[in-house]
Parts: sequence; structure tokens; C-alpha cells
Amino acid sequence: MYKCANFSIEELISKNLFNKIKAMGLSPEYAWRLFSPDALKLIDKIRDYYDTKIFINTWKWDGELNYCGYREDGCPIGTWTSMHRRGCAFDLHFDNVDTWYKFKDDKLGAYDAIRQDMLRHKDALFPELTGLEANDGIARIHVEGGTNRRMILFEG
Ligand SMILES: [Zn+2]
Repeated sequence: MYKCANFSIEELISKNLFNKIKAMGLSPEYAWRLFSPDALKLIDKIRDYYDTKIFINTWKWDGELNYCGYREDGCPIGTWTSMHRRGCAFDLHFDNVDTWYKFKDDKLGAYDAIRQDMLRHKDALFPELTGLEANDGIARIHVEGGTNRRMILFEG
């Protein structure tokens, strides 16, 4: 089992799942074992390398993001084949992405630049990266790790 240094468990599971686990009398920390350790290592490394705040789920702070990490049974978002359902995928929202990457008012362009940067550094820095979703018009990056397969870059 691996626990992230840079993210709390509330950022990686939905509010619903968090409450379900607590209702079972378990610590929410139990949820760490739902994830691929390699996928958790990947997002820790991404956070360290880019050295900027990265949001995944934000419900803990009354934000809208709730299914950007693990998607449990009954989750209304996405398909059953999604790697989010296997604890291998995360949707990353970088803080101030347009200013940080000098793409004024162009968040999608900034995210594309980050994707290219991730691919350039994959072998050296992000060996756990196994999937990266292309720009589908949404301001975030979908990353996958620990899926036990060769790297794929796919359309959204
Ligand atoms: Zn995703």
C-alpha cells in the first residue's frame, strides 16, 4: 500500500464513498488500498515536479469536484471501463495554469504544454505514467498509472 505525501484521501475519493467507509466503522484511510500504488506515486511525482497546487476532488472544501479520482460502484460519471474505476486514473487541475505556463487566458493551451512536458520527461521522471488523455476541451489533464501496460496517448 502507498499513501500520497501530497494529497489527502478526501481528494482522491468521492464524498459518498468517504461517508460510506466511515459508516462501515472504518477509517477513511482504508481507501488508500483501492488505488494502484504506481498511480499514487505518479501523482505525487507530478505534484513535486511541477511544484504548483494541483486539485483533484474539492468536495472537502465545498468545491464541485467529486469524481476526479476513484469512481466507486454506482458512480454516475464515466463508463465502467474507465481506469477511474480501478484506482488507476486521476483528473488533475493545476492552480493558475494559464499564468504559470505563460498562456494568458489559454488554459487548454497551457494543459497541452504540460502534456508535452510530461511526455518529454516520462522515461526520466514519470515511469509510472501509462495513459494520458488528449485535449478534449476540458481544462484538466487525465493521467493513468499502474495499469500494467505500455504507454498510450488517447483521444478524449
Ligand atoms: Zn479522467
